[in-house]
Amino acid sequence: MNMQSKQRCLLFVTIGALAACGSDATDGPDAPTDNQPAVDPAHFVAGGLKGAITTTSCTLSGGTTTTCYKIVTVGAPSNRTVGPFCPTKITDGSVAGMWIEGGKTYDLTGDFIANLATFYNDTKWKLYDAAGNINVTNSQVACEAAARPDVDPAYQNYCVECALSYYGGGVERTFLIPVNPVARKSGTGSVGMGGVGVAFDGIVLDGPAPVTAIKAAHTIAAFDDCGGHINAHAGYHYHAATGCSPSVTAADGHAAIIGYALDGYGMYALADASGAEPTGLDNCRGHSDGTRGYHYHVASAGENMFIGCFKGEQGTAN
Ligand SMILES: [Zn+2]
Ligand SMILES: [Zn+2]
Repeated sequence: MNMQSKQRCLLFVTIGALAACGSDATDGPDAPTDNQPAVDPAHFVAGGLKGAITTTSCTLSGGTTTTCYKIVTVGAPSNRTVGPFCPTKITDGSVAGMWIEGGKTYDLTGDFIANLATFYNDTKWKLYDAAGNINVTNSQVACEAAARPDVDPAYQNYCVECALSYYGGGVERTFLIPVNPVARKSGTGSVGMGGVGVAFDGIVLDGPAPVTAIKAAHTIAAFDDCGGHINAHAGYHYHAATGCSPSVTAADGHAAIIGYALDGYGMYALADASGAEPTGLDNCRGHSDGTRGYHYHVASAGENMFIGCFKGEQGTAN
């Protein structure tokens, strides 16, 4: 029983509700457990890291001073080239990247781009010229003008892609993750723009893409088949888990772990070894079991999210 539970017991004794105090009776099935595994830095692929993972003193959002892993990433997967993203001609039948809409993923083909006005029931969508060439951002200036929140009007009706070569091959990122995750005493932490976790190839698992603004400018911020794309601020980052990044399978058939959330809880694939998806996840998309403690299962690739919120405390450097 942890300190938090003991404090709750004292409170219950005070108010005479002793029966609730034998074990962690006040913890529901989805609440973080006491037997919480530590983060395992060995899961990260060395090629995605800039040097070894180290430990550093950090302060959790609840005020506790503890130890965090400091993970510095190179911002490019070491096992593959990113992309492709946008098709170049509407007659191009091959699949470039992918797009997400309404909980589903769609192959980005020339045909898909040609049919956007129908797909979105909006005649303003027209990402190609009379010769069938698709408007693709093909320079750093173009990609940054099109990928910013207030899209440059000159780059409306573009398929947007950026290249890692604009950013020295990758945007270096530093993540602090508590070695031993600590559940928030109450409530949950909201998912912001700084990412929700790190995949084992060192690529950030980002918060939802701002698809409302992207679509309002009649742009397609193309993802590659791995659910990632590039911008100047975040470099290459994931918005969907499609099974590309390294994972560690579980001996008991549970879904494989694909990364850690910024609060230190494991982020697992959606489906287990038999293809079954978990039921009864909490609003953060987490639940607990005896082997993994509290952990998250990422959403399906079309949902434009990984997890709904943070159950644990995040750390900042001291
Ligand atoms: Zn993005
Ligand atoms: Zn699970």
